Amino acid sequence: MINGKTKVLGLIGDPVEHTLSPVIHNTLSDIYEGGESAVYVPFPVKRGGVEAALKGAFSLGIQGLNVTVPHKSAVIPFLEDIDPMAKAIGAVNTLVRGDKGYVGYNTDATGFIRALKAFGKPVEGKAAAVLGAGGASRAVVFALSSMGVSEIYIFNRTPERAAELAASLSEYAKDCRVYSGTYDEISTLYDREFFVVQCTSVGLAPDIEGCVIDDGEFFANALWGMDIVYKPAKTQFMKRMEAAGKPACNGLSMLLYQAVDAYEKFMGTTVSELLALKAGARLQLCAGVADPIVLIGCMGSGKTSVSNCLKKLGFEVLDADAEIERRSGMTINRIFEEQGEKAFRDMETGLLKELSGKAENGFVLSAGGGMPVREENRELLKKIGKTVYLRAGVSTLCRRLEGDTTRPLLAGGGLKAKIEGILSDREAVYMQTAHEVIDTDDMTAEEIAVRILSF
Ligand code: NAP
Repeated sequence: MINGKTKVLGLIGDPVEHTLSPVIHNTLSDIYEGGESAVYVPFPVKRGGVEAALKGAFSLGIQGLNVTVPHKSAVIPFLEDIDPMAKAIGAVNTLVRGDKGYVGYNTDATGFIRALKAFGKPVEGKAAAVLGAGGASRAVVFALSSMGVSEIYIFNRTPERAAELAASLSEYAKDCRVYSGTYDEISTLYDREFFVVQCTSVGLAPDIEGCVIDDGEFFANALWGMDIVYKPAKTQFMKRMEAAGKPACNGLSMLLYQAVDAYEKFMGTTVSELLALKAGARLQLCAGVADPIVLIGCMGSGKTSVSNCLKKLGFEVLDADAEIERRSGMTINRIFEEQGEKAFRDMETGLLKELSGKAENGFVLSAGGGMPVREENRELLKKIGKTVYLRAGVSTLCRRLEGDTTRPLLAGGGLKAKIEGILSDREAVYMQTAHEVIDTDDMTAEEIAVRILSF
C-alpha cells in the first residue's frame, strides 16, 4: 500500500529495462507484514551521471538504491562511507541512506555467501575453483576468502585479468592462498578436494549449449558446483556436473539473496527465510525459469491447498479433476455412476496426452489421486514437469477427509480402512512417478509450496 510514509527504493544503471530487481523488492515489500511500505523503481542513469543522480536521490529522500553496470565502481567517490569488503572488491551494488549521503555495500558478495549456505555444501578447508575473472567473479572470490576456504584458483580465458584479480585478493585475504591461470591449467587441481563456482557468461541464454570447461575429468574430480548464471534453470555446466554425479545449483539464489540482503539494509529489517523464498518463487516465474510442476498424491494430501498458494504467487494451476468435470459437464461421482471408473481413467489419460510436452514456465498440474495408477499416465505425468509426491500419513488424511462426500472411492463409510487400502495400493506407484517426495504431515500448505520452489 502506497501512502505518505512509503519509502522509495530503486536501481540506477544503464540499461535498467530488463532488471528483475523490482520483482524481488516489490514482492518482499508486498508480503512483508508489520513493516513500513516501500516501492522499488528502476532509474536509467547514463555513464558520467552518477554524481548528479546521487545528489538528486538524496534530496528527494530516496531511502536506498541498487547500482548496476556501468556505475558499480564509478559511484564510490560520491559515497558518505563504504563497507570494508565492498571497498576491497572495488565495487558496490547497494547504497543505503546515511546522514549526509549514501553508504555503499556489496550484496553480490554477501548474497553469494547466503546462497552458498542455502545450498548446504561445506566449503571450509576445501579448495575453490572459480571460472571467470569478470565483475561477478570479483564479488565471489572476496566472499569465498571470508568463508574459510583453503585456496582459491581463478581461471580465465584472459590470464592477465585473472592475475590482476588474484593480486588484489591476495592483498585482502592474507591467510588464503590464491592462484590464477587459464583453463589449460585446471588439471593442477585434480590431486585435492575442490568445488567450483562458474562465473563466466558462457552458457547464458540464448547460447545455452556453452560450457567453459570441456574436460570430463574436471567434473569427475570436483565435489560440487554452483553456476551463477540463472537462465536457463539448468545450464550446460550444471548438466555436466550432474552427469558426473555431482550436486549443482544455478545462480538464481545468489540473485535472490543479494536483493534480500539489500532490502534488509534499506529497511533496517530482517526477512524470514519463508518470505525470501516466496519472493524467490515470483522471481523464478518472472525470470522465465519456473519449470512446470505436477503435484501427485492421495486425495487429501494437500494438492488443492498447495495449488492455491502457488496460484497466489502467480502460477497457472490446472486441477485435473475440475478440468474433467468442466469438460464432461458432470461431477466425478456421476461419471463413475453412469460410465464407470474406466471411462473416467480414459478421460484422465486424454487430458495428460494433451498437456504432455506443452506445459510452460509457471504451469502447475494438480493431478487426480488415481492418475499415476496407469503405467501410461505415469510416463505422461513425468513428461509434463517435475512430479512432486505430497505424502501424508493415514491419520492426517482421515482428519482432512472426514465428512467429504465428493469422493466416489470413499463412499459407504469406514474411512480409515478405505484410506489404508488406497495407500497400500498406490504408495508404490506414487514413488515410481515422483521426482521428489515431500512429507507433508507437519507442514502448512504455504511451507510446502515454498519447499517445492526452493532452489
Ligand atoms: P563480465 O564482467 O563481462 O565477465 C565475463 C566473464 O566471462 C569473463 O571472465 C570473461 O572472460 C568470460 N567469458 C565471456 N565469454 C567467454 C568465452 N566465450 N569464453 C571464455 N570466457 C568467456 O560479466 P560478469 O558481470 O562477471 O557476469 C558474468 C555472468 O554472471 C553473467 O552471465 C551474469 O548474468 C552472471 N551474474 C549472475 C549474478 C547472480 O546474482 N546470479 C550476478 C552477477 C552476474 P574474459 O575476461 O577472458 O573476457
